[in-house]
Amino acid sequence: MSEGTTPNDAFIRMVTAKRAVDLPLGDYHPRSMLVVPSHDVRRARFPAIDYHNHLDAQDPQAVLAIMDECGIEAITNITMRVGRDGIEMLHKFQKAAPERFATYGWMDWTDLHRPGFFERTIERLEELVNHGACGLKIWKDLGTSVTDAEGQLMRVDDERLAPLFEKAAELDIPIMFHIADPDAFFFPVDQYNERYEELAAHPDWSFHQSHFRKPELLAQRDRVFIRHPKTKFVAAHVAERPENLEYVSQLLDTCPNLYVDISARCAELGRQPYTARSFFLKYSHRILFGTDLVPEAEMYRLYFRFLETNDQYFEYPSHASRQGRWNIYGLFLPDEVLRSVYRDNACRLLKRPS
Ligand SMILES: [Zn+2]
Repeated sequence: MSEGTTPNDAFIRMVTAKRAVDLPLGDYHPRSMLVVPSHDVRRARFPAIDYHNHLDAQDPQAVLAIMDECGIEAITNITMRVGRDGIEMLHKFQKAAPERFATYGWMDWTDLHRPGFFERTIERLEELVNHGACGLKIWKDLGTSVTDAEGQLMRVDDERLAPLFEKAAELDIPIMFHIADPDAFFFPVDQYNERYEELAAHPDWSFHQSHFRKPELLAQRDRVFIRHPKTKFVAAHVAERPENLEYVSQLLDTCPNLYVDISARCAELGRQPYTARSFFLKYSHRILFGTDLVPEAEMYRLYFRFLETNDQYFEYPSHASRQGRWNIYGLFLPDEVLRSVYRDNACRLLKRPS
């Protein structure tokens, strides 16, 4: 046995050499050896409004129990139902606890091919608001799959929708846009893709083989924000560009009528804590707390930990398939920023006393 080589060393070399080539990525679950302070934030430091969630499949009483446990004052349910079903869903939550739930309507494209559609969208918006809706959500099917009566793909900035946005201003309710998806979804699903595991599990989420380009979709959306300065808009998921907060900052500077929510984007924000913290401090009056995840105490607590503590390198909240193979860092936001993001900004849009 030569000097410096023990039987144990030889064994480790053998095992690591084999594993380095054999271990499938999906089986690799490293455990952090970091020893750093860690905080379990049981309740939000200030009453919080989850401005972006989807509760249609949830029992209101079960959700209320979790809200009470975690300090969630209210949730905005973005119903994905349309027509009568959408209004019934609104009433289901309104009846359960009118102060604790608000409802966003979902853009109804079902009869787009029948004459008079664009006039009807305005009537529907008025009806939704008469029933107590607090906003209207327009999803990424606009711009990528919705086609008009002539079979033409509808653009996000289609002028025929302009009266709808003007009506929203008149009714003083915001329009929420979720247009496009993470940047990585537009790139090849290969060894260079930072969301490889997620896209491999959900190949249909990839836009790579499509002819859609994300900058073009966002440009159409941004044009709408600029064209309708009296209409309030919420750009969901950090305006779909949390990977590039410089872009979002410029957009917020250009459009004083715009808010962004942080839902489902902790992973992005929390891996760039210096940039994200500056962004929150600068735009504290334009950022809305939201989760877009099934209400569960542990999910909310990870959001609180991210916003409130200076904990390092911890798991981000997400649904079962992880967004990317990394961890996040807390932003330890000051109290006045937390108050705005958790509650006050949402109160302005919901016309609730703050
Ligand atoms: Zn959503």
